[in-house]
Amino acid sequence: MQETLKTLANMQSLDDAIGRYKVLQEELPKQLNDLIDAVTQATADLVAGEAEKLEINKQQRALEGDIKAYQDKIRKHGGQLADIKTNKEYKALNSEIAYLKEKISEAESVLLDLMEQEAAAKEKNLELKEALDKAEKNKLNKEGDLRSQIAELEGKIESTRSERNNLARSLPTPLIKRYGNMIKNKGNKAVAYNKDGSCGGCGFVIRQQMRIELQLMKKIVYCENCGRILLDNAVKNLA
Ligand SMILES: [Zn+2]
Repeated sequence: MQETLKTLANMQSLDDAIGRYKVLQEELPKQLNDLIDAVTQATADLVAGEAEKLEINKQQRALEGDIKAYQDKIRKHGGQLADIKTNKEYKALNSEIAYLKEKISEAESVLLDLMEQEAAAKEKNLELKEALDKAEKNKLNKEGDLRSQIAELEGKIESTRSERNNLARSLPTPLIKRYGNMIKNKGNKAVAYNKDGSCGGCGFVIRQQMRIELQLMKKIVYCENCGRILLDNAVKNLA
């Protein structure tokens, strides 16, 4: 009987390992996606940042063009001043020149703002480029390992499962069936250990008489609440 109990304990540790592999089957592809998503996001951020800077440069060029046009007009008007006949015409031309100078001054003040915006955009884009480099490096470092781990998991599950099935061969069929049903329906736990006098699977208190039976290891004891196979911790130390 001790051998049967030990076999059940070993089968459960193999099923625990299968459970961990299955968790990894969920987790690792997510980690892989996160690596890839981080690069995609960092690329999109940098592209957006560069577009923002280009838009600033476009506004700068437009304003510079405006200023040049105003200056040309002022020069032209300056040349016309010599040919002015009346005081009225002279005043009108002078006020047009003053208006153009005002427009130039407004445009120059906007240009100063844009220069500051351009400098900030440059700095931000350097940071975005660094973030992209970091994301790419991170992906390069981890992707291959993650992909091979993911590829190996199915094989590990298969070999662990066949190891468990080999162990099960020494058990009576009804016990194998009961074990298998509990693995399927009770959170991958068919075997629970005595945990401070309670079932390690559901927490239900184990009666005194059953605790003695557990220690004696002469029969299989089932939890009265969850039906799992209860084992004394000493089973782990059996040869
Ligand atoms: Zn229980």
